[in-house]
Amino acid sequence: KWNEILQMVKEEHGLTDVSFNTWIKPLEVFAIDGNTLYILVPSEQMGLSYINKKYYLPLKVAIGEVTGIEYDIQFILPDQAQSLKFKNNDTPQLEQQTPVKGDHSNLNPNYTFDTFVVGNNNRFAHSASLAVAESPGEAYNPLYIYGGPGLGKTHLMHSIGHFIIDQNPDTKVLYVTSEEFTNEVIESIRNGNSSAMTKFRDKYRTVDVLMIDDIQFIIGKESTQEEFFHTFNTLQTQGKQIILTSDKPPKEMETLEERIRSRFEWGLMADIGTPDYETRMAILRKKAETDNFDIDDDILNYIASNISSNIRELEGALNKLLAFHNLEHTHITMDIAERELSNIITPDKPREITAQLIIEVVSEHFHISVDQMISKTRSSEIARPRQIAMYLCKTMTSDSLDVIGQLLGGRDHSTIIHGIKKVTKDYEENDSTRTLIETIKKKINPN
Ligand code: ADP
Ligand code: MG
Repeated sequence: KWNEILQMVKEEHGLTDVSFNTWIKPLEVFAIDGNTLYILVPSEQMGLSYINKKYYLPLKVAIGEVTGIEYDIQFILPDQAQSLKFKNNDTPQLEQQTPVKGDHSNLNPNYTFDTFVVGNNNRFAHSASLAVAESPGEAYNPLYIYGGPGLGKTHLMHSIGHFIIDQNPDTKVLYVTSEEFTNEVIESIRNGNSSAMTKFRDKYRTVDVLMIDDIQFIIGKESTQEEFFHTFNTLQTQGKQIILTSDKPPKEMETLEERIRSRFEWGLMADIGTPDYETRMAILRKKAETDNFDIDDDILNYIASNISSNIRELEGALNKLLAFHNLEHTHITMDIAERELSNIITPDKPREITAQLIIEVVSEHFHISVDQMISKTRSSEIARPRQIAMYLCKTMTSDSLDVIGQLLGGRDHSTIIHGIKKVTKDYEENDSTRTLIETIKKKINPN
């Protein structure tokens, strides 16, 4: 329904793809309270006042036409959304029905495997997701994807949904956020009659694939956990696929009931980490390409170097420049980029280069753990990265040899000197070592 409304705004007002993608498509229904429909503007950078001025009326009209209800519309930002308290809780949701076969309607059309950039941070989660998409109910059940905000969990989840429906339009795929799930449980309990509960169970227990996003929010809500547990068991016994996302692994969800925790751990848990520099660049390039946005690589580099822990913010920065470009019809220069992004990126605060950071980056580069790095092991797969870390700590920080030795597992002076000398010599004589070191340096300090 919501997509239908947004499409209607697009068509009736002849919006171009960029305008639509920049302003309209990101909008979400946050809640309906009485006669007020709250629309979430997912990022402050999108310009809430502009949207309000320009799209308030078109949205109101389209909502009226599609739902037949004259809602008051209110735009809100994520932080306001969190503090919103509703007077009236048993409010109608935008009509949610049992999923029709082959129904993509509550999946974001842009979240597909094709638009997902695979990097070291998400390779495992990506292949696990693809396996589940190819063989729902058979590969891993449940699939549990976890990681910090804005790292691509929802994107992967929707990709699985699209893939399954495209392969087999007869599959019933149901995607809900855990708020939606919770609200529906509460609503059906509140209604107090068995038909409300039957309806709820019909909806959830007859699907082939159930996806619940941000499952951490069902925690601490007892009745919801209970209902979830039964839904989960029913579906799993029938070999139906369950996919969950969360911001943390089950073992870190303190108030999660033990029996549910153990169910989660039956399947496969896949985490998504923060993207490295190459992945961030690849995501920006891909997005610029999709949006037909002709933007210089050094500007993408500027964004990728300064925003590292959240892909939503990374995209937000690019979107902001795209919006500027479309409004001003001007090529984006570095000056413009720095000015437009000044509230997102504060370049006077570059990340501090510490020996600890170097050790972590080097370990990551060689796919070994920090524990291995600082262990006593002398095998060459570990010893060489360790010597490279010594060299980089010496050349990139002002730490003394003693400090470096301490951080690298309590090694003495002469070991550190020996390591540094060896790598220095290698660096001078050997092209491949030089390239390797420069690559790692770039990861440590992208600027
Ligand atoms: P999460 O659910 O983990 O908070 P999302 O899935 O909503 O994060 O991702 C945030 C934004 O970043 C989305 O617009 C998504 O398309 C984009 N994104 C995340 N990971 C990738 C990726 N690997 N390739 C392309 N886009 C990505
Ligand atoms: Mg998400």
